[in-house]
Amino acid sequence: MAIKLEKVVETFYQKLEEGKIMGKKCTKCGAVEFPPVYACNSCGCWDMEWVEISGKAKMHSIVMPAPLSTKPEYKNLGKYAYGEIELEEGSRFNGVVRGMTKKKRKEILAAGKLPVPCHAAIYQRDGYKTVVFDLDEE
Ligand SMILES: [Zn+2]
Repeated sequence: MAIKLEKVVETFYQKLEEGKIMGKKCTKCGAVEFPPVYACNSCGCWDMEWVEISGKAKMHSIVMPAPLSTKPEYKNLGKYAYGEIELEEGSRFNGVVRGMTKKKRKEILAAGKLPVPCHAAIYQRDGYKTVVFDLDEE
């Protein structure tokens, strides 16, 4: 099990190097899981296939990082926040959204704009790539 899970993670990062953001699609019920998991969260099916996700998403909540909990690996990311992301494909998870400031958060909340459209981007961290989100331009 542990070895198989490693393989999923390995493939995910290999595809990121190719500029592709991959999720896992259940062959039984069609649910798309992101970040990729080994078994379908919707129906429990273990038969999952790789699919490239569109990257289109909505941000449902915005949580500013506490100053002391700011992760050093996100130092070069600029302003960011955490948020509940829902992919066009349906999966929901907590992600990192770039370009979010306290002021912007306030404006979005005041205008009742949640959920706000955003899209996935590949971010180069020390030694490997990861997936972050950018707000769509208005
Ligand atoms: Zn399923």
